[in-house]
Amino acid sequence: MLCDTHTHLAAYSHDAKQTIDELLACAAQNNLSAVCITDHYEKDLFYNGREDIFDLTRYFADLTAIKATLPETAPELLIGIELGYLPHLDDFYSALTRDHPFDCVILSIHILDGKDPYFTSDLYQAGSETVYRRYLTALIDMIHQCPDFDILGHFDYISRYAPVSDLKMHYDHFPSEFEQLLGFLAEHGKALEINSRSIVRLQSGGYQDFDAWPDPMIVKRQLELGGWISLGSDAHNPDEAGNLFTETTAWLRQLGCREVVHFVRRQPVFTKI
Ligand SMILES: [Zn+2]
Ligand SMILES: [Zn+2]
Repeated sequence: MLCDTHTHLAAYSHDAKQTIDELLACAAQNNLSAVCITDHYEKDLFYNGREDIFDLTRYFADLTAIKATLPETAPELLIGIELGYLPHLDDFYSALTRDHPFDCVILSIHILDGKDPYFTSDLYQAGSETVYRRYLTALIDMIHQCPDFDILGHFDYISRYAPVSDLKMHYDHFPSEFEQLLGFLAEHGKALEINSRSIVRLQSGGYQDFDAWPDPMIVKRQLELGGWISLGSDAHNPDEAGNLFTETTAWLRQLGCREVVHFVRRQPVFTKI
């Protein structure tokens, strides 16, 4: 049984619309063994005038209390976080991850050149190839500067919102960047996330069947390098936990992947697929 390593709750993430009960019900329905809550924590980023952070002491207290009430048959509840990276936050995030007992830390970039592609397409004026390369380069810089994390969040986030018909990010367009990125993840025991929300975006952009999944070459190289793969739905809504995991594990098996990873108390746990 699988763990969904990337989920959000309305109580902490500004853009989420699900309660813990809804999330756990969906996780149980999709036969997940565990679900990790990874709410957005984005210091110095403001949405509707409010900084996108929350009280971590309350977060741990609330989620730990909920954990204690769950029946044995419920999916295991893990407490993680999705850190929204900006280059000046290295020291701040290093201290934050050191000082809190997370099960799992996802490190993500939502902002490139001061802009969030979800809100503005200005970012893409240089052309999608140039912007994708800049995003990958920013990810490479991030993982070197802020290495206390477990999962690289949605490496393909920049492709979700590109105003082009060919959204997909291809290994062959950026071999040097992918080699640096995947090499670091493999060498340091970090997981490459396959993010269901990115797949759903490609599906709605017209990609059919497994063409909506990431470029297989990216996964093949991660595996050849000895790297790990994690599964994250990036669930923001009540029916999304574990979304597309059955299809994704079938796709991963075709690519020679035999196990996926999740993290408990920052230690890897492997599940055969
Ligand atoms: Zn994210
Ligand atoms: Zn997320």
